[in-house]
Amino acid sequence: MTYNRSVKKEIAIGNVIIGGENPIVVQSMTNTDTRDVSATIEQIAQLTEAGCQLVRVAVPDMEAAKAIKAIKAKIAIPLIADIHFDYRLAIEALANGIDGLRINPGNIKEQDKIKLIVNKAKERSIPIRIGVNAGSLSQNIITAYNGVNAEALVASAEAHIKLLEDLDFNLIKVSLKSSKISIMLDAYEILNKKVIYPMHIGVTEAGLPGYGTIKSAVGIGALLTKGIGDTLRVSLTGDPIKEVEVGFQILKSLELYESGVEIIACPTCGRTEVNLAVMAKQVEDALKFIKEPLRVAVMGCVVNGPGEAKEADYGIAGGKGKGIVFKKGEIVAILPEDMLVERLILIIKEDLKNGGY
Ligand code: SF4
Repeated sequence: MTYNRSVKKEIAIGNVIIGGENPIVVQSMTNTDTRDVSATIEQIAQLTEAGCQLVRVAVPDMEAAKAIKAIKAKIAIPLIADIHFDYRLAIEALANGIDGLRINPGNIKEQDKIKLIVNKAKERSIPIRIGVNAGSLSQNIITAYNGVNAEALVASAEAHIKLLEDLDFNLIKVSLKSSKISIMLDAYEILNKKVIYPMHIGVTEAGLPGYGTIKSAVGIGALLTKGIGDTLRVSLTGDPIKEVEVGFQILKSLELYESGVEIIACPTCGRTEVNLAVMAKQVEDALKFIKEPLRVAVMGCVVNGPGEAKEADYGIAGGKGKGIVFKKGEIVAILPEDMLVERLILIIKEDLKNGGY
């Protein structure tokens, strides 16, 4: 691993291990009504297909908590219940086979009810994520820390953690989310030095997929380069499948995830003599189902093209009406422009079929 990872306690959510030196886990949350069992199962199937490793569902009422049993029976990845305030929903979710809980014990006021949840969670070794969110800090904390800031988020997390630790429970995961990157970065850095628990990272309410992707990449990426983060969720408005794609793209861009094809494409300039954007898209579409980690360069000219293509596993560099196909730095074909993509894809697929290049 390139970055100096903060090694945290390992916890298991279903068959997914979070923390330690395990790969960083990408998770998402459904936006279906959890009570609509078939719609929720269908969306989880799509998320699973996209590579999602853990999925969370909102559990706003008892009907949603009861739906967990039927949902669990039909899905292939571990399920986490997102619960606020009502301890009975947590108990029901646990009884119905949930793999993880997201609940802040401090919001359940009464100690005996927190104890009930903890005892049930202990019986099946179900982890609890403490999810502190800048938008829902208690007024006491806001007053004590003079507003919503990193120190306030950390103090809130520590108070919730203490409630669980006092009950001898340590299957804990923590998140400290804010829609302000500056606050979330500071908060995670402070808490990271204080606790051994794995960190769930993300920029909350990052926004629509365009700006939200950039904001998430900046915030999550900054934490990952500091070695902080054991699981992540990209929070985007709209289809959660996009969250999973962006999550893996962030990891891939930092070389923290090696799977699938990374396309290296030049930005094009006045020297470009081929229809590069179309070619890059064709290559991306043709190779998107490949799971092997490959770097494929699609370059517009013979100035930087061959150099970049040589660094990649495969590549093409366009020229005037024709171009070069590279494999591991070696020229394997010089062809007319309209044959470059097709030949590149053919070579890659044949190599993979024969067990690699
Ligand atoms: Fe321009 Fe060539 Fe660089 Fe592409 S690789 S941006 S065409 S100089």
